[in-house]
Amino acid sequence: MLLDIIHGFEQNPFFFYTIVFIFALCVGSFLNVVIHRFPIMMEREFKESCEDYFGTECPAQQSGVDQEGFNLIKPASCCPHCGHSIKPWQNIPVLSYLMLRGRCKGCKSKISLQYPAVELLTAALVTVTAIEFGPSWGFLAAAVLTLYLIAMSGIDIKIQMLPDAMTLPLLWLGLLLSLKPLFVDPSQAILGATLGYLSLWSVYWLFKLVTGKEGMGYGDFKLLALIGAWTGPSMLPLVIVLSAMSGAILGLGLILIQGRDKAQPMPFGPYLAIAGWIAFLWGDRIMDSYLATF
Ligand SMILES: [Zn+2]
Repeated sequence: MLLDIIHGFEQNPFFFYTIVFIFALCVGSFLNVVIHRFPIMMEREFKESCEDYFGTECPAQQSGVDQEGFNLIKPASCCPHCGHSIKPWQNIPVLSYLMLRGRCKGCKSKISLQYPAVELLTAALVTVTAIEFGPSWGFLAAAVLTLYLIAMSGIDIKIQMLPDAMTLPLLWLGLLLSLKPLFVDPSQAILGATLGYLSLWSVYWLFKLVTGKEGMGYGDFKLLALIGAWTGPSMLPLVIVLSAMSGAILGLGLILIQGRDKAQPMPFGPYLAIAGWIAFLWGDRIMDSYLATF
C-alpha cells in the first residue's frame, strides 16, 4: 500500500509536490498557533517555577498566561482584538486571509500579515525539501527539521529566546537518524553536535571577556549543535559564514526599510536557522563549487 503510494508519487512528481504544498500550508497555519502560544506557555512555566522557588506571586507579562487549560489546541482560535471566534472556513490558509481582505470579520481590525506569510513560507520550504529528496524517509525527516526551524525562528523573533523543548528533541532526532544513517553517520553527527555547541560557546565567552557584553544566548549554541547533528562538523564553518552573511544582509535591509535602531538586539537564531537549512540541503554542492573555483 505505502509502496504503491510512493511509486505513484515517483511516477507523477508534480502531483506529489502539489499534495506536499497544500499539506504544508495547513501545517504552516498550525505553526502560526505555535509561534503565538508557545511563548505564553513558556512564560507560565517560568512563572510557576519562580513562584515555587520564591514562594511569592509573580505578575504575568503576556495575556493568556493565567488562563486555565491554555495550550496549543485550546481555546479555539479567536481574534486577539475582539475575541470573535474564527470559524473553520475562516481558517483556510492564505485563502481566508484573501477572502477577508486581511481584516477580522467581527471588528474589521487588521489581521497580521505574519499569518499568510508563515503559511506560504512553510509551504514553499517544505516543497523545496520534497523536490530535493523525493518521496522518501529523507524527505519526511527534512520536512520535520524545516518545520521546527521555522517555528523556532518565529519564537526567537518574538521573544528573543529559543525554547529547549524544541532545540533538544531535534538534536536527539538528528543523532538517532545517524544510526540508520539517513544523512550523516553517527561519528559525524556526534562531532557535529559537540563542535557546533562548543564553537559558539567559545565565541560567546571570548566576546564577553573582551567587551563585557552578551552577543548571543545559550539557545543559539543548542541550535548550532542540532544543525551539526544533522549536517556533520564539516558544514559548521559554512553555517557560521552563511548566518553572518544573512544577518548582515537582512539586518542592513531592516535598518534601511524600518529605520531599525542599530543598537536594538536582534535574535541570532533565525540567521543560524536559515544558514543551517541551506547547508543541510545544498552544503555539499556549495562547498564543491567553492573549492572548484580555487
Ligand atoms: Zn476582531
